[in-house]
Amino acid sequence: MTLWRSIRGTLAALGVTLKAIFRRPATIPYPEVKRVPAPRYRARIVLTRDPRGGERCVACHLCSAACPVNCISMQAAEGPDGRRYAAWFRINFSRCIFCGLCAEACPTLAIQMTPDYELCRRDPLELVFEKEDLLVEDGGKDRDYDFYRHAGIGVAQARGEGSEEEPPADVRSLLP
Ligand code: SF4
Ligand code: SF4
Repeated sequence: MTLWRSIRGTLAALGVTLKAIFRRPATIPYPEVKRVPAPRYRARIVLTRDPRGGERCVACHLCSAACPVNCISMQAAEGPDGRRYAAWFRINFSRCIFCGLCAEACPTLAIQMTPDYELCRRDPLELVFEKEDLLVEDGGKDRDYDFYRHAGIGVAQARGEGSEEEPPADVRSLLP
């Protein structure tokens, strides 16, 4: 009985091996062949631009607050028109766990994940990406989104002229 069980087990294992021999290999010979990940794959992070070509990031620090490993840092600055931007913006990819929380937290769609997984560097210092390395000339996943147009902040247009905004109330008219 025990002998028969052993023979059966061996034959079953051999069957699995034989079946696998005739299957297409699952191994991809990287880097000669590069796998194309799904569009929502979370790898290299970029900073995108709005439809007018301006920087989307308003240096609100929400992404760095959401980051569980504290690998995002920046300094806020303000342009002559009152529009905020990041004077410098840094991501330390040697700590990043590609969780995507920064992109989820961003109200302006500035920070986005891309499927570019080729981020390996021998020197960990080369994994510290500055704003120049992160900023791309594109709107990424939602090219038409313009934070200032939607938020209606009186910087890119007068208050109340945002695409989904009511005109500001006249507070005097509310007084008894
Ligand atoms: S993907 Fe996650 S770990 Fe990486 S920078 Fe964003 S929040 Fe931080
Ligand atoms: S990338 Fe987005 S969340 Fe981060 S500081 Fe800029 S606007 Fe705020």
